[in-house]
Amino acid sequence: MSTTLVIHGGAGTIRREEMSAAREAEHQAALEAALAAGGVVLAQGGSALDAVEQAVRALEDCPLFNAGRGATFTAAGTIEMDAALMDGATLQAGAVAAVQRIRNPIAAARAVMERTPHVLLIGPAADDFAEAEGLALAPPEYFRTEHRWQQLQAALATRRVALDHDLPARMGTVGAVARDRDGRLAAATSTGGMTNKRAGRVGDSPLIGAGTWADATVAVSCTGVGEAFIRCAAAHELSALMRHRGFPVRQAAAEVAEILVPANGGSGGLIAVDAAGEPAIAFGTAGMYRGVLRAGAAPETGIYA
Ligand code: ASP
Repeated sequence: MSTTLVIHGGAGTIRREEMSAAREAEHQAALEAALAAGGVVLAQGGSALDAVEQAVRALEDCPLFNAGRGATFTAAGTIEMDAALMDGATLQAGAVAAVQRIRNPIAAARAVMERTPHVLLIGPAADDFAEAEGLALAPPEYFRTEHRWQQLQAALATRRVALDHDLPARMGTVGAVARDRDGRLAAATSTGGMTNKRAGRVGDSPLIGAGTWADATVAVSCTGVGEAFIRCAAAHELSALMRHRGFPVRQAAAEVAEILVPANGGSGGLIAVDAAGEPAIAFGTAGMYRGVLRAGAAPETGIYA
């Protein structure tokens, strides 16, 4: 059976007229590298879970995106990261929130899933857990990038809590969904959250059913104003629309991203893949960094609507 990998690098006010060709090429290359990192896992017969973890790790390591290195700052000038993944084949899930020292928060989410009886660990205790499990840590300077610092200053000046990509340098939260050769689905999401968020604020990304979800029907990863996604259990709702109302994946994705999330006071987008490997990408913003890799086809990436 054929494999599919879909990734995103955040949704927001991304406009062609405000992007230089060099910047666009840089993002495209980063998206392609992440597709390759997850794609090789799927091509070798690996699991959807491994594929989404590898794709998200590649995006966390890239300072262009708001996850891992390059994450956004809180109002307190700290970096607090959230991440989650879910295995649709087993309904096992793991997540971390408000972590500050873990180099790859998605790896910690996986460790929570596989090495504890829990789903979500938060704050310094989650950092300590990762350290005890031997995961790679990094000092604050590793995560800090100048453009994110400038975004915080701009947000503080206007008292806005903003999606990082709504501010001058627009780059986003990252996520991946995959269907493997055996038909298993998985989803992963990782983020620094929103620029100028209150310290301690947790968004939708690490909340299973809100920003991240996978079951036997569909795998979903969201990006956007987290509070709106939490209020409508966005990722799980997409699955519910498919299972209970018979919506095809694209229709369910559009319903959630274009109708439900805005109705709950936010904007954003999502990626999904169904059990047949059909990908869906939907967003109610000017743009969303995204990529699709289907077995036997060339990778596709996109930025604008
Ligand atoms: N959804 C993320 C959050 O609210 C932010 C984003 O997707 O850019 O934390």
